[in-house]
Amino acid sequence: MPDGSPQLKPRTLRDAQSLAEAGLIPPEAQAGLARLSATYAIAVSPAVQALIDPADPADPIARQYIPDAAELVTLPQERSDPTSDAPFTPVKGVVHRYPDRALLKPLLACPVYCRFCFRREVVGPDGGLLTAAELEAALDWFAGSPQVREAILTGGDPLMLSPRRLRHVVQRLSAMPHIDIIRLHSRVPVAAPERITPALAEALETEKALFLCVHANHAREFAAPARAALRRLAGAGVGLLGQSVLLRGVNDSPEALEALFRAMLAARVKPYYLHQLDRAPGTARFEVPIEEGRRILRTLRGRLTGLAWPTYVLDLPGGAGKAPLGPDFATAEGLDWMVEGPLDGLAHRHPASGA
Ligand code: SF4
Repeated sequence: MPDGSPQLKPRTLRDAQSLAEAGLIPPEAQAGLARLSATYAIAVSPAVQALIDPADPADPIARQYIPDAAELVTLPQERSDPTSDAPFTPVKGVVHRYPDRALLKPLLACPVYCRFCFRREVVGPDGGLLTAAELEAALDWFAGSPQVREAILTGGDPLMLSPRRLRHVVQRLSAMPHIDIIRLHSRVPVAAPERITPALAEALETEKALFLCVHANHAREFAAPARAALRRLAGAGVGLLGQSVLLRGVNDSPEALEALFRAMLAARVKPYYLHQLDRAPGTARFEVPIEEGRRILRTLRGRLTGLAWPTYVLDLPGGAGKAPLGPDFATAEGLDWMVEGPLDGLAHRHPASGA
């Protein structure tokens, strides 16, 4: 944290020059990063600027948002659409991969642009806002798809919509008898908490079960303004879930993950998913091998309340779905199971039923 209580700076930084002026990149990096900004959007919001310690070259908040020349290197295994949205898009703005749920992407703008984003090839400040007609066509698709029980608003960031537009989307989905759950995925509560106004919270009012899945990767993202925004949402009846990405240099240690999940819970947010990095172009510097991720999580079992435990998942390329990655504590031995005790580290035999 910078010295004393952080002062919010007034504007979102969107290019290499303003990052250099704010002391967030060295002046000599400016030319290279100016080139990068032509490929991938940059945005560092005032709330995020207030969280960054510019004196720390390894600051875990800065690492998530400040561009790096390494992003211009694409490895052979990296894909521009790693979760394969495109082949599962029946109408513009909709992704239908699983039978009982579908994504609605009303816009592709975000309050910040994360350097590891799996949709980095499409998100940006100018792109992707569905026209009124396109949004109605997307909502009509949901209305005509009775097998879909859950509508998942993502993007971009759906909380970048105006409260008026958001209310319209929530109300239309709520009026569909087959929709039981409305879920929104958002970075806004931590990256732009000032957007969570009473009007926005009111726009989320519905009789349906509505969950907000907050994307955060470090305990420090749950500063006082974020906690106040989340309290306002909880007060409006919004269920709060957390999603994180396992990221090298951000949360790749038992201590960092424990602090993150504890900070989430303290802010009333139930950790839901911990994602293995999706291999989007230029994101290799963030990857933590799966084996290491399993090892880190294993150390947390027993030491951290079960409430704080997310499912560690990999989104398989090609649209094959999200697969849990463990860690496993049980192995079969004949018909019995050998189960490792999280507290004693010993193998305990669980005999087959009837044995
Ligand atoms: S907020 Fe989400 S969609 Fe937007 S850049 Fe970050 S990870 Fe990508």
